[in-house]
Amino acid sequence: MDVFGILNTMEQIGLYIHIPFCTSRCAYCDFNTYAGMTHYLDAYVNSVCKEIGSVSQSAPQNLYISTIYFGGGTPSLLSISHLKKILGMIHKNFVIVDHVEINLEANPGTVNLSYLKELRRLNINRISLGMQSAISEELMLLGRQHNTIDVIRAIKWARQAGFENLNLDLIFGLPGQAMQTWQASLEFALRMNPEHFSLYALSVEAGTPLQGWVNRGLIDGIDPDLVAEMYEWAGDRLEAAGYKQYEISNWAKQVNNEYLVCRHNMQYWRNQPYLGFGAGAHGYAGGLRIANVLSIPEYIDKCAKGETGEFPRSPATISEEFIDQKNEIAETMMMGLRLTSEGVSADRFHKRFGKALTDIYPDEINELIQWGLLEWDGNNLRITKNGRILGNQVFMRFV
Ligand code: SF4
Repeated sequence: MDVFGILNTMEQIGLYIHIPFCTSRCAYCDFNTYAGMTHYLDAYVNSVCKEIGSVSQSAPQNLYISTIYFGGGTPSLLSISHLKKILGMIHKNFVIVDHVEINLEANPGTVNLSYLKELRRLNINRISLGMQSAISEELMLLGRQHNTIDVIRAIKWARQAGFENLNLDLIFGLPGQAMQTWQASLEFALRMNPEHFSLYALSVEAGTPLQGWVNRGLIDGIDPDLVAEMYEWAGDRLEAAGYKQYEISNWAKQVNNEYLVCRHNMQYWRNQPYLGFGAGAHGYAGGLRIANVLSIPEYIDKCAKGETGEFPRSPATISEEFIDQKNEIAETMMMGLRLTSEGVSADRFHKRFGKALTDIYPDEINELIQWGLLEWDGNNLRITKNGRILGNQVFMRFV
């Protein structure tokens, strides 16, 4: 395997830091996150720093970092000194490019003005708030700990602290949710005037309390037709309010001639390299997709032992998969087609793989265009509005 492969051609990479701590578990959540474990926070942050040091030392070249993303879990449970430590370690071990995007996910109710001001002092320049809904009953059903007042306050404080790039996450398609309450939530969120929206359809995941309630008939199941209507309505409403859809679930506003897309997530959708640190974090670099151990104590143990492999593996890596060109092409298609305005560029595809996109998938592309699910402008292949509703079925044609 050529460990230099991806990094030579696309030298800027993203860093993801997973913070798997939450104050309690939401009813629908199947992320790798844990409640009641904040006593591990100090040790965890030290382990993340060790992992960063170990991976950067094994890197075959200087790594240029264009985005850093603190995701979770609830990264806003980290103290300012925790964040300083991790960011200090990143600065010591990598080359940070000018205009780096540094994101932090936060739950409304876990931040205050002085915390947000300190985040800005650390050059964290994008904040993503898990608002989810503006309806108290829906927040209760989801098991969220915040209320609408917490959302209003968090946004006000974020603006006062100087955040000019703010995302709101919302969930739709809740069991029993009516179109009117979804519309009320999105209208409320629009009045908050964020630069970015991420809208997700709720999926009932195995093993979650929500799934148990649905299975036992305690709450209604989800009506897929209504979910599709909610999605379509939201897309039209956001476009009318001046937001541009650039990904299946994401909309951005233009500020100073630039759409404030999530640059970190663009790295994933363009199938470009990134490194992940923390329990359960994933990475993709040097042709390898790797994943870390899920449990917090095991992660801390593994980082303490410090047995590391070749780049991009770390002491916490427990699985790896070599991505050959065939898979890399399929993944590039699946992820690139999520980008509703950019799609997959034939030029970029040819540059990367030395092959024409239309030679590799002639039948799939023709068929999906005939069905009105994809469109082709001579260089970019994009998913249509109808295709977005059937997203996964379209993507799977390229696997
Ligand atoms: S706050 Fe987010 S990560 Fe934590 S339990 Fe709720 S949904 Fe999951």
